[in-house]
Amino acid sequence: MGMAISSEGLAAEYQEPLGPAGVRIRERPRQPLLEGHVAVAVKTAGINHLDLWMAHGMQRVDPPRVICADGAGVVEEASGGRWKPGDEVLLLPTVSDGTCEQCQAGNEVFCPHFGILGEHVDGTACERLQVPERMVYAKPPALSWEEAAAFPLTFLTAYRMLTTRARLQRGETLLVVGAGAGVSVAAIAIGKHLGARVLTTSRSEAKLERARQLGADEAIPTEGFSGPVRELTAKKGADVIFDSVGAATVDEDLKALALGGRIVTCGSTSGPKVTLLWPRVFFKHADILGSTMGNSGEFEEVLELVGAGLKPVVDSVYPLAEVEQALAHLDAAEQFGKVVLRVAE
Ligand SMILES: [Zn+2]
Repeated sequence: MGMAISSEGLAAEYQEPLGPAGVRIRERPRQPLLEGHVAVAVKTAGINHLDLWMAHGMQRVDPPRVICADGAGVVEEASGGRWKPGDEVLLLPTVSDGTCEQCQAGNEVFCPHFGILGEHVDGTACERLQVPERMVYAKPPALSWEEAAAFPLTFLTAYRMLTTRARLQRGETLLVVGAGAGVSVAAIAIGKHLGARVLTTSRSEAKLERARQLGADEAIPTEGFSGPVRELTAKKGADVIFDSVGAATVDEDLKALALGGRIVTCGSTSGPKVTLLWPRVFFKHADILGSTMGNSGEFEEVLELVGAGLKPVVDSVYPLAEVEQALAHLDAAEQFGKVVLRVAE
């Protein structure tokens, strides 16, 4: 199937559903280079909320599983001819079979074997990672190693949500709910790049200030945000609402939405079950759009944006050995941007 992934050497493994304490460091055997694969000496691995859900036993994943979808490093060995030892690379955070009709049409997200590194297969939090050649991309030279492992999953996810799904147009108003999440930081940056007016919310005054520094046009408290959003848009409401908080905010989303607006979501960090007032959906002519991850074609467009100057925000960096503390930091929801593991110098 061409989707064998091998995580080797010292690795951060989800072993038991105990939260951050259930992710531990273990030495995994090194394997000879697989045909058509590239072995990467990982320098940095990015942590996502997904890793935390898994550590808490909320994903249907049988341990052990090496965590993290995002990774960057230096090619150690390569077969296939496109890469050579020493090349600086980063990885596509998704897997697919590459052969089905959907993959052939560039819609890998609809592949029956679609998955995420560190969830459906072992991930990047390891010293040596073997992946199929087609998952390897050149690291944009402008990015540090930490930044290179901080953007793939969140920027890919946010980019597909705002472009392919919500079709955000220049001059429209975008509301990003919950400014601190990695995917929200990506949405603010991409929304500005696409020429939207960007509003954002947070429960934390410090995060509102960070969001303004990042380029958000307006940053307002999350509590009861629909009133201020309507004030700031001359009563019209937001054209596109980007929400990964879900249950706690979807009612406010519908109140803050413009007629004919689009709500796009990739998650529900406040809980999976959502209650909404159905009349708000139809009276607003609302589109509620789901999205998760993205295609390799969209990833290539994201890499171009990054090459053009868009940068992820790195909240903090922990050595691999301190993966438990890194996950606990994310669990406390105090971060602004991405938490990154430094695997090797
Ligand atoms: Zn496929």
